[in-house]
Amino acid sequence: MKFFVPSSFGKNADAVKFKPTAPVDTNSSGKVKKNKKKKNKAKTKNEAPTGRGPLAPSMPMESDEDETMTAVRRVKEGKVEKKKNKKQKQQQQKQMKATPALLQAAKESLIEDAEEKQSNTSTAGLSAFEAKLKEQLMGGRFRFLNEQLYTMNSKKAEQLFKSDPEAFKAYHDGYRHQVEKWPLNPLNRIIKMIKKLPKSLEIGDFGCGEGMLAKSVPHKVYSMDLVSCRDDIISCDMANTPLNTHSLDVAVYCLSLMGTNLKDYLLEANRVLKMDGMMYVAEIQSRFDNVKDFVRKLDSFGFQLIKQDVGQKVFYFFQFKKVRNIGKVSNVPTLQLKPCLYRKR
Ligand code: SAH
Repeated sequence: MKFFVPSSFGKNADAVKFKPTAPVDTNSSGKVKKNKKKKNKAKTKNEAPTGRGPLAPSMPMESDEDETMTAVRRVKEGKVEKKKNKKQKQQQQKQMKATPALLQAAKESLIEDAEEKQSNTSTAGLSAFEAKLKEQLMGGRFRFLNEQLYTMNSKKAEQLFKSDPEAFKAYHDGYRHQVEKWPLNPLNRIIKMIKKLPKSLEIGDFGCGEGMLAKSVPHKVYSMDLVSCRDDIISCDMANTPLNTHSLDVAVYCLSLMGTNLKDYLLEANRVLKMDGMMYVAEIQSRFDNVKDFVRKLDSFGFQLIKQDVGQKVFYFFQFKKVRNIGKVSNVPTLQLKPCLYRKR
């Protein structure tokens, strides 16, 4: 059995001790077998929850479910809206071929918009001022929440978001703004790597935010965050997820190792990952005092470094493989990364 390892981890990728890894079917020439059994695939999508796989053991009926379990079940049953495929897109484009009547309606609506804009010009100065003020307030709120998330433990962070649901939206509005300023969104690089993995692998996106990973890859993705902003996102503390033990093939942590109890996240990752399962971590470079120390400590959590790219200026990328079961109570070292505090814009 060989594991398919993404071919590129970036130009400056530093390959460390590569060994065959996760359980993936290969044919005699060593190539990954394509999933021919479409019928089976369809069957799994419609099958009733069995309590097996990455999910928590019992699956109550929808009416009895709480939000978390509903989200878990939706992912399990494959009821997650993925990106439209080419055919669907073409069909949609065909439908959108405007008739003359539609064109006329569109023209009229454009004229109306232009007239409305003109009537607003007298207040344009004030609006710009208001917009600027609003942006500053939003930025301030984002920085405040961000600092909170990095400097408290995850239980408190969960309480913070649960007691103020607006806070999560405010955080992610600010986060989106922040991403626009970066030379790259680290999530895109992780998406690229996941796309190269066999589609049968099941992924956990820990601290998924708005759940873009699940939307961008064809795999079954269990998206988790402190607050769920979509039906298929499981709201939970990633220190304590509803996933089954040894059920995931891949765990992703993209800029989500926030909080003072990092060790709880890694113990949970060790619990839910299969042996030889992969863990991808992307973090902001400035959070590390000593990368070697970080990597050495992860070994105590049962994770062996496979590849790292610490050549990038803003972000560091790591790929680890689970090589040992750690169990609940164990002698793991304290693990800390510096908080990432954004500057005032
Ligand atoms: N991974 C996403 C979002 C990054 S922002 C992306 O790359 O786009 C970091 C996210 O981690 C936030 O949504 C935050 O709510 C989440 N997070 C932080 N601590 C968490 C915890 N203990 N459990 C679940 N999610 C957490």
